[in-house]
Amino acid sequence: MPRILLFDIDGTLIRSGGAGARALERAVAAVLGLASVQADFSFGGMTDRMIFRRLLGSLGVEPEESLIARILERYPAILEEEVANAEHYAVQRGMRESLQALELSGRGDLAVGLGTGNVERGARIKLARADLNRFFPFGGFGCDAEDRGELLAAGAARGAERLGVAVSECSIVVVGDTPRDVSAAHAIGARCVAVATGGATRDELEAAGADHLFDDMASPGAYEALLS
Ligand SMILES: [Mg+2]
Repeated sequence: MPRILLFDIDGTLIRSGGAGARALERAVAAVLGLASVQADFSFGGMTDRMIFRRLLGSLGVEPEESLIARILERYPAILEEEVANAEHYAVQRGMRESLQALELSGRGDLAVGLGTGNVERGARIKLARADLNRFFPFGGFGCDAEDRGELLAAGAARGAERLGVAVSECSIVVVGDTPRDVSAAHAIGARCVAVATGGATRDELEAAGADHLFDDMASPGAYEALLS
């Protein structure tokens, strides 16, 4: 069966050392003309638009579409600066090796892409510092849909198109680090390989119903789970 893999970014492929969260907060502050904005909730597994909406709500500001559009315009330049300066930016353990192995596997029935709440521009900025973009020719992004299941469906559709088959003929595997990745995967009939490298513990990921669960992608059996 053709296989589509969709990788989450934050906490799964990389950790940005807080750069992502800082950039989201700074973009909101910049557009509202505030000195700073600090979220009182975790961004884990949320799409960018959802985060902007909730940040605005917590400030008592109506999250109008035109306002979110202005924030999204400011965000990439701020993110670039934050990612470039992030001291604790890192690729998660085992990820680069797994991506290289997938590439070398030479499987023609395999499509490797992204499944992330980041808008595509933000996703590409975050991955560029570690030169990971070349592994992901397509994806489903936060600019495709605000709902995580819907953006994964968009990514799966692009993967199927690349493989030249119907999405219904493919087995879809989402790789993620939060309960939201698990539930969104299940919402589109995909399986979820969860890694406890991000915002959620093993117990939380297990409770969410992760189909496979590993400490990180360097754990025994983790790479095999991507293809099994
Ligand atoms: Mg994540």
